[in-house]
Amino acid sequence: MGSGEELDAAAVRKRLKKEVAEVVELAIENGWRVKALGHAVKLFCPCREPDHGQFSVSGTPSRPSAEARRVMRMLTKCPHFSSQPTRKPS
Ligand SMILES: [Zn+2]
Repeated sequence: MGSGEELDAAAVRKRLKKEVAEVVELAIENGWRVKALGHAVKLFCPCREPDHGQFSVSGTPSRPSAEARRVMRMLTKCPHFSSQPTRKPS
């Protein structure tokens, strides 16, 4: 598993802590791309805004819940990001 390869949701779940993976999966649903970066991953926003267009997420955070919140804060900087699931339960 090399660096730079693009990851899908299943690969993200294997690589990241559950709490962090759930947030990153939301990003994928919103069109973000995720690439492997050693033990971490790197997220790329489709809008490429400088304040959040790309940032890395730790695969080995000391506090997964804190890392998940940090990732969510970064995602919500994007005007295109919605934390609502795209598939609503009916
Ligand atoms: Zn964005």
